[in-house]
Amino acid sequence: ATPTALVVGTGRAAGLGVLFRDGTALQALRDVRAVALDKTGTLTEGRPRLTDFFGTSGAEEPEALALAAAVEARSEHPIAAAIVAAARGRGLDVAEAEDFEAVDGFGVSGRVSGRTVAVGAPRYLDRLGIAGDPDLLARAERLAADGRSPVHLALDGRHAALLAVADPAKDGARDAVAALRARGLAVVMVTGDDPVAAAHVAEGLGIDAVEAGVLPGGKAEIVKKLRAAHGPVAFVGDGINDAPALAEADVGLAIGTGTDIAVESADVVLMSGSPGALVEALDLSRAVMANIH
Ligand code: ADP
Ligand code: MG
Repeated sequence: ATPTALVVGTGRAAGLGVLFRDGTALQALRDVRAVALDKTGTLTEGRPRLTDFFGTSGAEEPEALALAAAVEARSEHPIAAAIVAAARGRGLDVAEAEDFEAVDGFGVSGRVSGRTVAVGAPRYLDRLGIAGDPDLLARAERLAADGRSPVHLALDGRHAALLAVADPAKDGARDAVAALRARGLAVVMVTGDDPVAAAHVAEGLGIDAVEAGVLPGGKAEIVKKLRAAHGPVAFVGDGINDAPALAEADVGLAIGTGTDIAVESADVVLMSGSPGALVEALDLSRAVMANIH
């Protein structure tokens, strides 16, 4: 590719809201064989809402939700925002949490009004040595089968309640997936979310390959695995935990509305955040490269 063609190509892309860090990224995108996409905030809106709350006896909704919200008020996770918004929406008092701890990819804990509160994935309860309540775990499976992401609450070392959040798919996500597949690319969804909930979301988007329950360090490993199976890989993400995968990928594409770390780790920034911009970027790279060979 001539330097002039690359400058023209990156300039055209910028007009579409697709910012290439340099001409190399434009060249590399043409050769990509697989696209891995983060779920939350990339394929979905990334603004989940609280849809369900099941408390066991002694952990009923207003008090238990307020305790969960107090710990989540110190977290930046989208699930945390959903829980805090739900508590405030019900007019609940959200107390100050002490001894706050966030375990990336697992959940958060702290002390609120003298009680120990932990909120997160089932593996977080395991890690804390808290036995799962069979009734709550069974309910969680049913919610997940419906595409809602279960979140577990433990109070004073006891599995006390089950919450669920739902995060709708972005407009255009399904069409973008179909367009990628029509161009011969393997499409994989990657997420730290519950496998059953993730599979439901993937099905709605026409994606048949899902890597769920992935720990923060695991997304970059999946990029390597896909490269070995298919060839050059593009990774699309928005979160802090996507940064290593964006750096590992042959082409890392960050959602412009995502976190600074994701944007800094990427080769390409999709300003609109629309999954369709990825397809436009791909077509542009193919067109530019075809014209100059
Ligand atoms: P993703 O953003 O792809 O879902 P994360 O690594 O951020 O992946 O989180 C993985 C899982 O850990 C979440 O789906 C959730 O179950 C749990 N989790 C992480 N942080 C929190 C939090 N602040 N509150 C509740 N659950 C959390
Ligand atoms: Mg995300």
